[in-house]
Amino acid sequence: MAETTQLSCLCGAFALAVIGSPIITTECHCRSCRESGARLAALPASRPVLAPNGGTPFVLYRKDRVRFVRGMEQLAVFRRTPDTPTRRVVARCCNTVAFLEFKGGHWLSLYAGLWPQGSAPLPAIRTMTSDLPAGESLAGDIPAGKLVTAGFYARLLGAWLAMGFKSPDIAIANEIEA
Ligand SMILES: [Zn+2]
Ligand SMILES: [Zn+2]
Repeated sequence: MAETTQLSCLCGAFALAVIGSPIITTECHCRSCRESGARLAALPASRPVLAPNGGTPFVLYRKDRVRFVRGMEQLAVFRRTPDTPTRRVVARCCNTVAFLEFKGGHWLSLYAGLWPQGSAPLPAIRTMTSDLPAGESLAGDIPAGKLVTAGFYARLLGAWLAMGFKSPDIAIANEIEA
């Protein structure tokens, strides 16, 4: 039996469970994650979303390995711009930033802040470091760069293949502004 880990928002009204191991753990340095992270972290009571180096730590799980346990009605979608297809989902009971979903994606990128402080699996790679602001650089402690990002997409594709190319829908009715 794969291990199940239950994770909840800060107040506990919303909870999900992840089953087994993630596809991969990443720290994203793209502009949209950076901007969205800063805006979401400014919501009242939100936990930090960005790492001190400006990256967004994510734990990526196949959608069929994520179970919603309670409080789905607390979830609200944040879109960086009105026509941004990517959904960043917040538990609005306590403004815990929960996960990111690419349109049609077969995985969820769970924000590491969903784990109790210090217990999230650490990022294995850095992606989208080409978006770093001019003059900024990162520590070389974990792999980054174009090849790493390419390998990351290969891992995602492998997971999709294992899922029989299904991309389950997650219905979320509410929207949130940040
Ligand atoms: Zn909550
Ligand atoms: Zn990103």
